[in-house]
Amino acid sequence: MQDLESENKKLKEMLDFKSDLISMMAHQLRTSLSASKWVLKMFMDEDLGHITDEQKIFLKKSYDNNEKMIDLVSEMIDINKEEGTEIIYDFKDHDIVEIIDQTIEDFAGEAKERKVTLNFTKPGEIIINCDCSKIRTALQGLLENSIKYNKEKGSVFVSIEQELGNVVISVRDTGIGISQDEQDQIFNKFFRSISAKKKENIGSGLGLFAVKTIVEKHGGKIWFKSKEGVGSTFHISLPISKS
Ligand code: ADP
Repeated sequence: MQDLESENKKLKEMLDFKSDLISMMAHQLRTSLSASKWVLKMFMDEDLGHITDEQKIFLKKSYDNNEKMIDLVSEMIDINKEEGTEIIYDFKDHDIVEIIDQTIEDFAGEAKERKVTLNFTKPGEIIINCDCSKIRTALQGLLENSIKYNKEKGSVFVSIEQELGNVVISVRDTGIGISQDEQDQIFNKFFRSISAKKKENIGSGLGLFAVKTIVEKHGGKIWFKSKEGVGSTFHISLPISKS
């Protein structure tokens, strides 16, 4: 019974998060479409130089299509709002060490299944101002990757340190790593490396994009180091108090 309840809770969290993500992407899409709208308008008004009547007709078609897309995206945003699933961050004081510990615990089964050892050097409590469930989602993203892209009998090492008003959480794995020429793309939406696709055919390429968004919403940063065939270390820094 309790298992079912916690499964339902997890499912709801996941659906809420997906909906947040769609809303965020819809906002970004509307911003890009609006930017195009103004450029098209400048051309049509001949602010950027003379255009022929034929060019005007084609520009007008593009402008009208662009308007339709803006309306459609606005509708999507409104539907999401009506469902009450706009991205809301609920900042409160939480022990980040406990959040990490519990998130690692959630992955114990998967790690065992994949023969990967999870290690956490657990210090005493560190209180930070954050949205607990969003930070959990971000940590889940990093931990999931560190297990999924690991090797059999591989290891994951999680640590946390305090540095000048921030905490720095590091997740190191002994996995497949990321090739040098793919490293600058891994935070792009839908990007998956060639070796990742070979190892795991299931994946959306949205996980790290979501992790980065959450971390930045907290005023933090994310970065990583990786060597193909050796492993990767992802770091996130989060301010201890959100001003
Ligand atoms: P997904 O895991 O669904 O493919 P992510 O957004 O979480 O998407 O990650 C994007 C890509 O970054 C992955 O497909 C993989 O190529 C690479 N990546 C992320 N984390 C790791 C890691 N720990 N080790 C190796 N590659 C990784």
